[in-house]
Amino acid sequence: MRKNIKLLLIAGLCLLTFSGCGPQPAKYVFYFIGDGMGFSHVSAAEAYKSAASGEKVGRENVLFTTFPVLGVANTFSANSNITCSSAAGTALATGHKTNNNMLGVDPEGNNLTSIAYPIHEAGYKVGIMTTVNINHATPASFYANNINRNNYYAIGSQLPESGFEFFAGGDFANPKDRSGDKESLFDMCEGAGYSISYGMNDYNSKKNNSEKVIIFQDRVTDSIYDYTQFPNAFKRSENQIKLAQTLSAAIEKLNNDKGFFIMTEGGKIDWGAHSNDIANTVYELLDMEEAIAVAYDFYLAHPKETLIVISADHETGGIALGKKGYYLNMGAIDQLGVENDDVNGSNYMSGQVTEDNVSTIANIGWTTPDHTGGAVPVWAIGAGSEAFAGSMDNTDIPKKIIAAMQIDYSFE
Ligand SMILES: [Zn+2]
Repeated sequence: MRKNIKLLLIAGLCLLTFSGCGPQPAKYVFYFIGDGMGFSHVSAAEAYKSAASGEKVGRENVLFTTFPVLGVANTFSANSNITCSSAAGTALATGHKTNNNMLGVDPEGNNLTSIAYPIHEAGYKVGIMTTVNINHATPASFYANNINRNNYYAIGSQLPESGFEFFAGGDFANPKDRSGDKESLFDMCEGAGYSISYGMNDYNSKKNNSEKVIIFQDRVTDSIYDYTQFPNAFKRSENQIKLAQTLSAAIEKLNNDKGFFIMTEGGKIDWGAHSNDIANTVYELLDMEEAIAVAYDFYLAHPKETLIVISADHETGGIALGKKGYYLNMGAIDQLGVENDDVNGSNYMSGQVTEDNVSTIANIGWTTPDHTGGAVPVWAIGAGSEAFAGSMDNTDIPKKIIAAMQIDYSFE
């Protein structure tokens, strides 16, 4: 008799667990990828925030380092300990490793599936945005397959086929192919029912024109060098487009009862670091932080149903906080262009602070203009976030997202 009661109790507990007492699925998912953002990029940004508020020593958290879950992800690709962005993007989007320069395909060239597709098929709306060209490696890993990441035209032509509801970023690179004589990717998108806007004002007047939208830049106010990248966060003017705005627009457009999945890339953290340019690296990172704050506000309104995951595809630049001596002078970033004969309080260097010498003045070291093979951080908060604690492979991240969303999908 006693044994039967015990069994009944266990059965009851199991029933409770599987009938609503288990974890809630993540209904709204924000997946942030800081391209090239290693641990030390984040530490440098935090030291800069502290310096900018007048403290010579210390760090002021960026929002996402206050999130409760911290993990570490390997970044190696199928054929190198130092990955490129397309192999890493493929890992982060499909859960499979591939060779450097390949995009959304395995090393033999077979197509892999980005998690954005099964998520979309399960009824969630999908948004993809970046600060670089929309057919660049990281965003493209979520909608395209090609044996070569540089086949921008073929990659871009897969964007309208995706049917995903929201895209934002810099223009297509090679919109009419390198030859310049193919059908324009812009026309192809419009032909597939996408409403294209140029800048946020244009978007706000057109946002209800179609279920599927793309935001590029305003041709007058936004462009700095070219249309294929958002303006640099460093010294950007108030009326220029930024990631936080496109993410706010995406949330408004994609919010629905079923839920959404939004991948947001801070694509120019990597570009700043490739140039060994500490000012642009830090400002692009803080720009992504601003977008994460938009997601965090949404999380605060829907804490049980929202998951925010932040990671990186690889580290860029081999950045070090300290090149020679025991000090950092991140305040030098705010002195760019300024004549100063005592920029770090010790007469280490005098003269004008320029983009060429600001890292030296700040005492930031770089080992390479390329990527490095170090592990990258993973932060998470919200529904299912516990799974992102500890050590993992980059291919585990999309698997953990699908598990948190409780979508029935096999990565085989
Ligand atoms: Zn890179």
